[in-house]
Amino acid sequence: MIPFNRATVAEHQLDYVRRAMDQHSSGDGPFGREAEQMLVDATGAKRALLTTSCTHALELCALLLDLRPGDEVIVPAFTFVSTASAFVLRGATPVFCDVRADTLNLDESLLESKITPRTRAIVPVHYAGVACEMDDLVSIARPRGLAIVEDNAHGLFGSYKGKPLGSFGALATQSFHETKNISCGEGGALLVNDEGLFERAEILREKGTNRSRFFRGQVDKYTWIDVGSSWVLSDVLGAILLAQLEERTSIQRRRRRVWERYAVELADWARSNDVRLPVVPPHCEQAFHMFYMLLPDLSRRTAFIDHLGRAGAKAVFHYQPLHLTPKGHELGTARAGECPVTERVADCLVRLPFYADLADDDQGRVIDAVRAFR
Ligand SMILES: *Cc1c(COP(=O)(O)O)cnc(C)c1O
Repeated sequence: MIPFNRATVAEHQLDYVRRAMDQHSSGDGPFGREAEQMLVDATGAKRALLTTSCTHALELCALLLDLRPGDEVIVPAFTFVSTASAFVLRGATPVFCDVRADTLNLDESLLESKITPRTRAIVPVHYAGVACEMDDLVSIARPRGLAIVEDNAHGLFGSYKGKPLGSFGALATQSFHETKNISCGEGGALLVNDEGLFERAEILREKGTNRSRFFRGQVDKYTWIDVGSSWVLSDVLGAILLAQLEERTSIQRRRRRVWERYAVELADWARSNDVRLPVVPPHCEQAFHMFYMLLPDLSRRTAFIDHLGRAGAKAVFHYQPLHLTPKGHELGTARAGECPVTERVADCLVRLPFYADLADDDQGRVIDAVRAFR
């Protein structure tokens, strides 16, 4: 069976892991520090802090923004649970907004209708690594004093009008879960662009202590000064991350090749079978995170996934509409029928096997199997 995903293995990662275990296996060690610098260089963010996951980085954002019960955060209805749950943990209410039919990103034309006096933040997700319309988002958020938190789990190395994703929001988050372009099993990062938040981000991530300042020699002892939790990534995982980031050009080149081959070789089949391939607007440099297709309806999609399975290839669907999940429904900020694009694409979307090391022959088998589906 050709798997849906296979984590990348970087050439030096085991060697780096061994060195981290010998030298400094807890967090903020030399590997993690260098990985953070590479993230800053790649995204243009002002600072990067490695975290134990993207979910934890989002939780850190909710704390940093001092979100409380009653506050509202606008999130796409079509996203991973953590985009909303990290804010719910602080008692804030996620307000579900529908997505655009072309890019499946937060629909900026609906945003103003979701804003109330209690709105504090907007959390765009660059789905599949294709940018949201950031000019519109920024011009809606800025005059109203709303924070933008980019959930950039898919978008690392992507850009919008030449500016890297992760550099638009006051805060942005990355994921290094095994399913992401760059991975260390479980891991993440907080990117900070608002300098006013940097020092507190360090403190909250270090259990509410000023340990980072102590290690820099800026205070002579470290102590408990704020709320916080334990969100620092072990340098053993930081070592894997650094090895992968050092190979990012090759990883991204290989992912691009796989993506473009699907797009070219499936175009005719898609056109004659009423299947839509991904839309990448010309002003967006995508991150090659996934290759998805929209089948005409749920029954066709189910038949398609079964067909590919019988041909030895694992294809998978994606998010459930968050407002229709048990928890999302209970929060009640959108009812069934109120996010029609999300509800339709959740039924129709399928993702093909996609990873940097997908062999040409295997990809050829997937493509043949897709074309045999009618
Ligand atoms: C993967 C993902 C997350 C969660 O990442 P973790 O590192 O597993 O916590 C959050 N948001 C989006 C959009 C994701 O794809």
